[in-house]
Amino acid sequence: MDVARGGVDHCAAIPASVYEERRTRLAERLAGLRLRYLLVTKPVDIDYLSGFRGSAGALVIGPRQPRLWVDPRYTLQAREESRGVEIAESRHGLLRAVGRWARRRRVPSAGWQDAHLTGAEMAQLRSESRGSGAVRWRGVGVLLDDLRVVKDRWEIERIRRAGRLTASVFEQVLHLVKPGVRECDLAAELEYRMKLGGGEGPAFETIVASGPRGAWPHARASARALRAGELVIFDLGAILGGYAADMTRTVFLGEPNRRVRNLYSAVMKAQTRAVRAVQDATPAGEIDCAARRILAKHRLARYFTHSTGHGVGLEIHERPRLGKGETTCLRTGSVVTVEPGIYLEGFGGIRIEDTVLVGPEGPEVLTPASKECWVIR
Ligand code: ZN
Ligand code: ZN
Repeated sequence: MDVARGGVDHCAAIPASVYEERRTRLAERLAGLRLRYLLVTKPVDIDYLSGFRGSAGALVIGPRQPRLWVDPRYTLQAREESRGVEIAESRHGLLRAVGRWARRRRVPSAGWQDAHLTGAEMAQLRSESRGSGAVRWRGVGVLLDDLRVVKDRWEIERIRRAGRLTASVFEQVLHLVKPGVRECDLAAELEYRMKLGGGEGPAFETIVASGPRGAWPHARASARALRAGELVIFDLGAILGGYAADMTRTVFLGEPNRRVRNLYSAVMKAQTRAVRAVQDATPAGEIDCAARRILAKHRLARYFTHSTGHGVGLEIHERPRLGKGETTCLRTGSVVTVEPGIYLEGFGGIRIEDTVLVGPEGPEVLTPASKECWVIR
């Protein structure tokens, strides 16, 4: 066994001052919206702003010390993990507690994450906070997603490590890739090694799609056994210190014919060109264009059926989207995937994906697994 590398990789704790800075940036945006308070209910946003990593909580950011409501499952964890926030335990519903608090405090107006709360939850909050001088609630849309687009060095370090781990587990498992092995066994092996290598696990269900199944961009690993003379797509990403990486490699079992070689080299060129375009101030749509142009030259554009990439961070799919016509510009410190692919019904698929940092000196690939050794003989 070559697996004894020791348990969870403990990243250096993010200092309290970093959370404070993030909350200050948020407060500035709130001021721009003429809001003094914001209720944050999406768990990754609560993590981003306070360090608390439980699966449920309600955080109110305002002019005074932020306050985090948790249910009794999370009281101890919240005290341990959160930085610079007051903890309140609630046994009868978090939103109920927040609503009553807001009413008692006579909070005039507050923002809520309307893209995350359900209609029923918003109705409950409204009714709990009603009274004399009722709270005026206002949706803030994707305000926090925008705040998270540019990563600080603590976040970049975590994604970098998640990327290295992802590349390393793929390389460790490559020697098991041969005819007769089932897709699901390879997926299990990859995910197992993510944990052994210090990760918290996979950021999403690992894709292993062989032969014709490779034509489904989001195929799950099945009990199908790999066969000689087929392409196999691996799409995987470890999560480490709360942050995800995302990488795809495609391999061929046996001696590829000319057609397969040409297809692979076209996707490879498209991916390399698009990675090169990942620069500060470049509109996201241009990265997509760069990939699509190369595939069009090879008459393959119509087989590329999804966008070129997406942001990665606390979530596996974040902003910005690297799709056709996206005008948002990339910014130094953003982390995105670049993942052109082609999907041919009945034949299979080829996709190559890297997680890429928009660095001060240009793109930096954070998933350093080779793309050259794609033929397994
Ligand atoms: Zn992926
Ligand atoms: Zn992806």
